[in-house]
Parts: sequence; structure tokens; C-alpha cells
Amino acid sequence: MSRASSAAPERAAAPGGQLERKFQRLGLHEPADFVVHLPIRYEDETHISAIAAALPGRAVQVEGEVLHSEVLLRPRRQLVATISDGTGRLWLRWLHFYPNQRRQVETGNRIRVRGEVRQGFNGPEIVHPRVSKAVEALPDALTPVYPTTEGLSQAVLRKRIQQALSETDLSESLPESLCRRLALLPFAEAIRVLHGPPAGMSVHELIEREHPAWRRIKFDELLAQQLSLALARARRRAQRARPLAAQDAELLDRLRASLPFALTAAQERVIREIASDLARSFPMHRLLQGDVGSGKTVVAAFAAAQAVASGHQVAIMAPTEILAEQHFNKLAGWLEPLGLTVVWLTGSLTPRLRRQALEAIASGEADLVIGTQALIQDKVHFPRLGLVILDEQHRFGVAQRLELNRKGDRQEDEGGPCVPHQLNMSATPIPRTLAMTFFADLDVSMIDELPPGRSPVITKLVSEARREEVLSLVHREVQSGRQAYWVCPLVQESEALQLQTAVDTHAWLRDAFPDMVVGLVHGRMSPSEKQQVMEGFRQGSVHLLVATTVIEVGVDVPNACLMIIEHAERFGLAQLHQLRGRVGRGTGQSVCVLLYQGPLSAVARERLRAMYETTDGFEIARRDLEQRGPGEFLGMRQSGQELLRYADLQSDTAIVEEAREAAAWLMHHHPDHVRLHLNRWMRGRQDLLRS
Ligand code: ADP
Ligand code: MG
Repeated sequence: MSRASSAAPERAAAPGGQLERKFQRLGLHEPADFVVHLPIRYEDETHISAIAAALPGRAVQVEGEVLHSEVLLRPRRQLVATISDGTGRLWLRWLHFYPNQRRQVETGNRIRVRGEVRQGFNGPEIVHPRVSKAVEALPDALTPVYPTTEGLSQAVLRKRIQQALSETDLSESLPESLCRRLALLPFAEAIRVLHGPPAGMSVHELIEREHPAWRRIKFDELLAQQLSLALARARRRAQRARPLAAQDAELLDRLRASLPFALTAAQERVIREIASDLARSFPMHRLLQGDVGSGKTVVAAFAAAQAVASGHQVAIMAPTEILAEQHFNKLAGWLEPLGLTVVWLTGSLTPRLRRQALEAIASGEADLVIGTQALIQDKVHFPRLGLVILDEQHRFGVAQRLELNRKGDRQEDEGGPCVPHQLNMSATPIPRTLAMTFFADLDVSMIDELPPGRSPVITKLVSEARREEVLSLVHREVQSGRQAYWVCPLVQESEALQLQTAVDTHAWLRDAFPDMVVGLVHGRMSPSEKQQVMEGFRQGSVHLLVATTVIEVGVDVPNACLMIIEHAERFGLAQLHQLRGRVGRGTGQSVCVLLYQGPLSAVARERLRAMYETTDGFEIARRDLEQRGPGEFLGMRQSGQELLRYADLQSDTAIVEEAREAAAWLMHHHPDHVRLHLNRWMRGRQDLLRS
């Protein structure tokens, strides 16, 4: 939903106060926000236990009379007290305390204390108990504990939430028939229960979020997400794009005939899916997924050829120069013989070449333009842009993706402004539930088969201590006419240090292998230097390529069959999978060595284990998602917005399905409820879900 049409009321200018700022840090701006700020857990303060029942390991609330209290000085300064209720005795202990806490436990006082019991030196004790006077009435609901931020107490938060509950309209946002069909608790009831569950309600169900009240909240949240995605889709369908039904289907036949290989069935299928999208008069928004090496580039070539055959220009954007250049070589090799003009545009062109490229684009002479982010600069003007292709789309920020799309906005035809079709390609497979929930406005095509003749890469985990053995492996490989990559460690803290490591490794390997040509490629080299090294590696004159992660994506040299990754424990799972995907592209047996340095953290160990156990990109993605959670997995964490606060995609799949169906039904039958529901749940957040 665009900002303009979003029903979010204007946010009041921050009323300065420190307290307000703390609320805002939690995303709490208006009463409605407080209403859906739900507890993470509960404390049961509704009844008093007998001290005799206060066993170690239990959280209890007891009352008793203070028998004695004193400040000890040894072994360290502390306040201790004992209380009794006639059934038993309990020790209380404070390692830090204020004078008023001392007064609370004067001998003879009747007090109520809460906390977790543990076995102390003298018997059961509670360290740092919470204390109140025994006369206060017991609450009749479980006490909620809310997610909070530093310096904001539960008491203040609770009070504000109670106030919000009394002044907010909690009426139903969903049609009654839907609530009945899905046996959903009414919203108001669910909210009241969760903010103050009546005594006796199962704390376990509440905490595990299995209670029907939680189910209602999760359903609402997922429904809101599905609805906003459905709206995004409806908006896209209302946009216009030029239908790119190839006038000259013969071009596609010639392309197919000129390829040195037969397309796989999966490639043929996705080419058809894309072709029919392109022929429509609203913009395609398709994600092409396929594991590394599955052959996405040639699919892009077919899409491009179709757009050009129908008289339009195509822009292909890649995240790195190396990759853009490789695409240029490949696509120009396939398409130029068929009469297409392919142009290359990156930030590193000389001014003269750059001017030439810009002219070719602006005059419409360039059919296909391949480049890096340079493509989205203002000066680049495409008169007939029909299709935009983003390779490794997850590497681009949301803003960049939107920008490239906007390149088409200025184009008018008789019917008004047109938007280019968009094809995103990615080797990071998004598991089904995630794709369904976050990318409902993205049609997904999947290449689920590798070209024939590939054998899976063998992965070896080798400790740093056995580095020498790896050298002999490299030696053998190169002796037998094949090539190898040596990937230098990631140095998060400093790019300079990372560069230094690469330079050092290069020097070291040159010494180790005097009879080999050892190349070096890193991000700080000039593009022409990079190009030279890569070309040497591609042609086989460079035997061993030392590289930083600039080679992570897309690089395709089938004769390279060995990949060494140093300090593999520092890389993320997706990154390791991408790197490993650089080998196993030819017909020989490929090996990937993950050199690691212990001791390994538990997470690092899990990552390396996953790499060792599987080469299946989907399985890797599933584990990656499990380890990092959806926000980080999708690279959205920077946005500061959680994607889902209450529902869990892994465990709530049944609710996800229900919400999906309900969203489609509501969009169709109850647009008024759609608005009501989104106002409650998605105020100001819709933008997050757009691309
Ligand atoms: P990715 O999906 O990782 O981008 P590429 O498009 O780089 O994969 O393709 C990997 C390699 O497989 C390239 O050398 C490409 O030419 C080759 N290739 C693509 N499709 C086929 C096929 N159907 N049969 C044989 N080789 C293919
Ligand atoms: Mg690729």
C-alpha cells in the first residue's frame, strides 16, 4: 500500500518525553499499538503457596512473618532475612539492596514475596525476591510480562496498556461467518485474555502460544500479511505493461538451435512460464529460482530474446562487475550472432566508451544492456524498456530494485504510463512457506533439475592444522589439468585487513607452487585487472585463483573442480553454498574443502555440518532459515521491523494456510473488512512487504 493511500493516521509529532521515546522504540505510538503489544510470558500471582511447598527450582509466591533480618559483611556485604508462615521457613537474600528494602524486612513485618526458590546453605532460599506488603489484595488474573526496553518497567508498560485497552475500539474486524467457520475467538476476547488471563488458565498453553486466544492473534497477523500482499498484487495487475508477445518467434527457434546443449525439461518449462507472463498487458513480477549451476542465464537469454523480438529493450543487472561481464560474454555470444545489439555498461567504463554506450541505449540501437548498478543512474535513458532482469536479486537492496523498475515509468503509450516486466533470478531458494507468506506478489518459477552429467560436489571439513595436506590436493588437481579456487577468509571488521590477507595468501601460494600460475582477484583491483585475471582463469592459463568473496556469485568456469575456503567458519550458510557452487560445473568430480579453525561455536558447527551433509540448495536454505529466522534470512532485519511478531512460520503452517484462503475470500467478498483488518494490523508497515 503506498504511503498516500495507506489508512495510517498521521503520527503525532513525538511529544518529546523520555517515556514516549521508550515506547516508540518498541513501536508503540498509538493506543492501537499498545493493544497488540502482547506478553511474552505470565507470572502467577493469583494465589499464595505454603512455604513448605516452596521447593527448589519452583517460582513461588508466599507470605510470612519476618523472623529475623540482618546485614552480613562476610563473605560479602548482603542483606539476609528469614520468614515463616507456620508451615516452614524461607531464607531471603539480597546482594545489592536499598535502605527501603531493608525496612521492608524488619522483624515482625508480614510480607509477601515472589521469586524462584533454590537450595541455599541454610535451606530453601530466594535471591533477590520481589517483596510487597501482605495486606494487598491478590490479583485475580495472571500477571503479564511484556517485551520491553531498557529503563521501561513492567508496571509502567502495564498501566499504559490497560489504559489503551479501555480507550480503543476492539470490535471485530472480520465477518462473523468467517470467525464461525474457523472457530476463531472474537478479537476483543482474545486480546483481553492475553493481557490478563483469568486465574486458573493454563500458563503452559499461554506461554507456548497454543491457547485459542493466541491462535486468533496469529491468524489475524498472518491474515493481515496475506491481505497486504494480495493488495500489492491487485495494484500490480492494475498497472500497464507492454505485452511482449514475440512478433518474430523465429528468433527464439534460432536461439534454441544455436545452443551447444539441449535445454533441460525444467528450463523449457520456466521459459514457457515467463513467455506467457511477458505476453500480458500487466507487468510480470516473477522470481526464477534454481540452485547454483542449474542454468538460469540461458533462461534469461530466452526472455530477453522474446522482448527484443517484440521490439523492446532489455536491461540485465548483476551485483558485481565480474558477474556482469561474464553475462555479457555469455549473452553476447548467444545473441549477437542472431543480430541483436548487446551493450555493456558499468561504472568503470572510460568516459568515451560510456558515452557511446549511453548513446546506443538512448537511441534505441542497444537491444540488450548488461551491467551493474550503473544501469540505474539518472543519465541512463531507455526509450523502449520492456523487460528488466535482476540476477542474484537478493543481493540488491529494495531501493535499487524499485529504481530500475522506475526506469520504465516515464514511458507512455496511448494508454498511459507503462512499467517494464521484471524477472528476478536467485540461487537462494526460498522455502515454500516463506515464499507463500512474504512473496505472494511474486510468481515463482523453479528450475528443479541440474543439467545432465553433473556429479555432486564432495565436501571435506579440514582443520587448519592440516593445511599442508590441502596443498598436496591442490597440486594433484592442477597436475591432472584442472583448476582450483582458493577463497580467502572474510574479515568482517576491516576491508583493508581482508585485502591484506588475500595478498599474503597469494604470495604464500606462489612460493608453495613455483611451477604454477597463481592468480589473484579482489574487490579493490581495477576492473581491467580483474577482467584480465578472470579471462586467464577462464582460458586455463591461470591454474589457481586466489580470491576474496568477489567470486561468490555466478562465476562459471567448468574446468575448475577444486574449491578451498579458508576460515569457513566465518561464512554464512548461503554464502558457503554459493561459493561451493563455483565448482561441480563440469563433468569431472569436484571437491570443496572447508578449512576451519577451532574452537567452533555451536552455530558455526551446525553450519559446517549442514555443508558436509548436503549439497541440496533447498535443504541448505531450510537449515539457514531455521538457524537465522525469517527476518535475517530475507535480509530484512536492517529495516528494524519484525516481519511477524506472533506467528511462527515453522510451527504455524496450518494457520498460514487458513489465512491464505481467508485472504482470498475476503478480498473477493468483503473489501470493507479487508480495510478494517489492515488498519488494525498493518498501520504504516505495508511498504515492507512490497518487493
Ligand atoms: P546459474 O543457474 O548458477 O546462474 P548458469 O546459468 O551459470 O547457472 O549455468 C551453469 C553452466 O551450465 C553454464 O556453463 C551453462 O552454460 C551450462 N548450462 C546451462 N544449461 C545447460 C544445459 N541444459 N545443459 C548443459 N549445460 C547447461
Ligand atoms: Mg547465475
